[in-house]
Formats: sequence, C-alpha cells, structure tokens
Amino acid sequence: MKQAVQNLLDTASNEVSGLGDDQKALDQARVKFLGRKGELAQLFKELGKVPEQERREAGRILNEAKAKLEAIFSDALENSRRLAAGKRESIDVTVPGRKPQQGRLHPITQVALEITRIFNWLGFETVEGPEIELDYYNFEALNIPKDHPAREMQDTFYISEDVVLRTHTSPIQVRTMEKRRPPIRIIAPGRTYRCDSDVTHTPMFHQVEGLMVGKGVCFGDLKGILTTFVHQMFGHDVGLRFRPSFFPFTEPSAEVDIQCVMCRGQGCRVCSQTGWLEILGSGMVDPEVYKYVGYDPEEVTGFAFGMGIERIAMLKFGIDDLRLFFENDLRFLNQF
Ligand SMILES: [Zn+2]
Repeated sequence: MKQAVQNLLDTASNEVSGLGDDQKALDQARVKFLGRKGELAQLFKELGKVPEQERREAGRILNEAKAKLEAIFSDALENSRRLAAGKRESIDVTVPGRKPQQGRLHPITQVALEITRIFNWLGFETVEGPEIELDYYNFEALNIPKDHPAREMQDTFYISEDVVLRTHTSPIQVRTMEKRRPPIRIIAPGRTYRCDSDVTHTPMFHQVEGLMVGKGVCFGDLKGILTTFVHQMFGHDVGLRFRPSFFPFTEPSAEVDIQCVMCRGQGCRVCSQTGWLEILGSGMVDPEVYKYVGYDPEEVTGFAFGMGIERIAMLKFGIDDLRLFFENDLRFLNQF
C-alpha cells in the first residue's frame, strides 16, 4: 500500500508539472486523481483487503496522500491563474509610445479670447450675462419698445411673450449699469441667437459687447479705443473708417469698416468691389438708455460697441463659409 501511494503521488506531481499553466488540463487531471472514481478513490476501495492489524496505518497513509494531492493541485491551479493574469497585464517596454492627443481651442474661442485680451489690456473688465433674457433687457431698456421697427430687423426666438433667447449681447450693458455706478469699462463676449440660417447666418452665433461710461467720455474716446483695437487685431497697416449709421440705443452711431483683408482695398468678390469690410457697430449711448438705469445724462456720457466674433474670425483667417465653424470637421479645426 505504501508503495502504491508513493507511486500515485509521483505520477500526479510529474503529470501536473508537465501541464504548465493549462487550467483546463489541470482540472481534468485533478478529477483523474482526486475524483469520486479517481485513482485515489480506487486505493481507498482496496483498504478493505488490507489485513486488519495494518488497516489503521494504511488509512493514515491514504488520508495523508489525499491532503498532499489536494495541495499539489491547488498550488498548480493558483500558479496557472497567476501566470494567466501576468500574461494579460504584461508590458512590452520595447513598443513605441502612443503620443497623447493634444487638444486645441476652437478658432471662435481663440478669436473671442484675443478680442477680450486686447480690451482687458485697454482697461475693460470682462463680464457675462444670461443667454435666456427678458424682453425688457433685450429690447425695452435699449430703447426698442414693442412696436419699434428695429424689432423686425432681428428674428427673435421667443420663449414666452416676455422671455427671449438674447438676439445680441447688448442687454449686458443694461444689466451692468443697473448694478454699478460710473465709471464703467466692460467687455462682454457670449452666444446670441436669431431665427436665421444660410451661408452667412447661423441660428447661434457669438458677439462681443463693449461699454465705457464716465464723466466726459466723448466720441474721440470711441474712435481712439476702436482704432487701437483694429490695429491690435489686424495689424497697424490696415486702413479703417467710421461710417454714420443708426442703432436705437446709440446716438450718434457709427459702423467701423476696415480695408478689405483679401484685396487690400483693390476691390474683390468678398468686399463686393468696394475695398471695405464692415466689422463692428458703435455709437454714443443714447440718453434715453440712461433713464432706464437711473443715470443722469447731464452727468455722464459713454459709448458702446458690438461685433460678431465669427465675422472677425472669418476676416482674420480668410474663411469664406461661416458653417465651417460649426461642422466640427477635424481637418478644418486642426489648421488653427
Ligand atoms: Zn476685397
């Protein structure tokens, strides 16, 4: 019996070491040796044939062998599991590294940041306002009452009779003046919305609003600040002109044109042969607007301006289709 048990243990441990980390084969071998009809079970069956005086000792040997076999198999299985896990997690240090993809700011964001940077440098503080706006701030307090024809110039998204998606960033002027006393110098970038969609219009677009109010602020300040801005943004050699215009909330009003960046003023398709491109609207704040915020028009004066960020970006980068900004095509975006 002793010899038979020893043979069994030797065979089992040889077989197991030959199987390596093959878990399925190990399970099969375990059944073969330790199963209910396995080789060890056969030896237990023979226990009855052993002479009575030796039976106790033989039983002890068999139980010992059972414990040893179980240990052999549980060690081997544990080992194979560890090896398999190791294979899954192994690191090949010779494989070339994968470069992390570097994100970039969207061209619209880049231009918005550049515009605010220039005005911050001129002493303007960046402020923001809500995109869902009361009719009062979007129109009424900007001297555009309900029956005013200017309302029809802007195709407004109405949420209710008194709530709109802001059609411009100008309501931020009113909100700021309501909260603060002059002197005020703010720049306010943000999203704006109009019911409009074609090659040159998208339902959502971006504007930057500017406002400067204080004692003795005059049209010369407006010209000086906006000329400095144009020179910073488009270069010192770009010509510009102030052209009389109309806005309900400024008086007098002026639009600013720059020399066409495509043809340098020679006349081309982009500038409709005029040599000039309109880039922003501006003017002295209409005294009517001050009445809504409790400022005394005899005490303070100021100017305001607004521009479309997409328009500035198109001129700065020479892009002729507005929709490119919103398609999120990486071949386009990667160029910035
Ligand atoms: Zn041109």
